[in-house]
Amino acid sequence: MQHNMTSETCRFCASTGLETFIDLGETPLANSYVSPEDAASQDACYPLHARVCSNCFLVQVADAVPPDKIFSHYAYFSSFSTSWVSHAKNYATMAARRLNLSPDSLVVEVASNDGYLLQHFVAMDIPVLGVEPAANIALEAEQKGVRTEVAFFGHQTARDLRSQYGAADLTAANNVLAHVPDINDFVAGFAEILKPQGVATFEFPHLLSLMAETQFDTIYHEHFSYLSLYAVEQCFERHGMRVFDVEGLPTHGGSLRVWACLAGADYEVCDGLEKVRHQEATAGINRLESYQGFAPRVAKIRDDLLGFLHGAHDHGKTVAAYGAAAKGNTLLNFSRVTPDLITCVADANPHKQGTLLPGSRIAVISPQELDNQKPDYILILPWNLRQEISSSMDHVRQWGGQFVVAIPELEIF
Ligand SMILES: [Zn+2]
Repeated sequence: MQHNMTSETCRFCASTGLETFIDLGETPLANSYVSPEDAASQDACYPLHARVCSNCFLVQVADAVPPDKIFSHYAYFSSFSTSWVSHAKNYATMAARRLNLSPDSLVVEVASNDGYLLQHFVAMDIPVLGVEPAANIALEAEQKGVRTEVAFFGHQTARDLRSQYGAADLTAANNVLAHVPDINDFVAGFAEILKPQGVATFEFPHLLSLMAETQFDTIYHEHFSYLSLYAVEQCFERHGMRVFDVEGLPTHGGSLRVWACLAGADYEVCDGLEKVRHQEATAGINRLESYQGFAPRVAKIRDDLLGFLHGAHDHGKTVAAYGAAAKGNTLLNFSRVTPDLITCVADANPHKQGTLLPGSRIAVISPQELDNQKPDYILILPWNLRQEISSSMDHVRQWGGQFVVAIPELEIF
């Protein structure tokens, strides 16, 4: 096991002034689901330590993990979340209208996954190109008629794609900006591939939501940056781009969608940009003091969860979980939850069923199997989907089951 790859400088500005935001200790990779025959093996654990740069205020975790370890176990298929598919459809309709896209346009999506988003442009006869690093997932996209290149996006890839397919009228990058180790090379790729009046949209979880609601379980090794508009604007400016509009989105517990263009393009600044700039300034986004106080709130969430689980256990109640998402693994492993406290976790994704969660070794089962077991409590791990999950599982009330979330604070409902 190698632990000495920690970079000592900010991944955006290279400053050495990195201060602790939250240290979650050594944990296994959140997406490394374990097959039953490997149940007795030791997880490889890596430090998970989020720090804030005192120069540019980018919150980040160090590259503690070799990149091949991160993507080899990639098991996320976008189309398994119904709310996410409809979010994608709304985006496609809205963006096509706002930018007057036509059969002569090109829409490029980076980290295009299984084509969940681009398929909606294909349906409108707008040419698309997906860029996706995972070959098995890219194949699923191709099967839907979504043209896809298997590649990691960056400046050189952008140059190659541009010469092969032409420049883009629109690029989309959803939940990927925060997941790239080299944010500078990645952003430079968008400046490279855009037409002079092209538009790039990026969606990412907003650091302000993470801080306001103590969403520490969104911190995991593959999630390198925790982004504010403040940090993103500095990064785009360095690479010849500027933000002209920002929307707040409810996804992932509070996200931003930023609209950017090349520095010299014609787009006028919209109110949305000023609004979020103001929000962040009010929250003290560029002052180190604003980042203190997070760690004690995280410790309280862990203590409250363990108190609940031990109490249920002592009273002979059973607790299962729902949603084998990455964020659940951060919560469970930081809190050192074991299968005697949470017996199993149900997940609708058949690729995850039959595996064990990394670290905690809790078994992943199907929702049908959960119904058979009739647990007294169901801890919803992806709290951002608590509404969707609790209403789709309303039948658990019939056996007296109750739902629980741990974040932003312990709640039984
Ligand atoms: Zn920095």
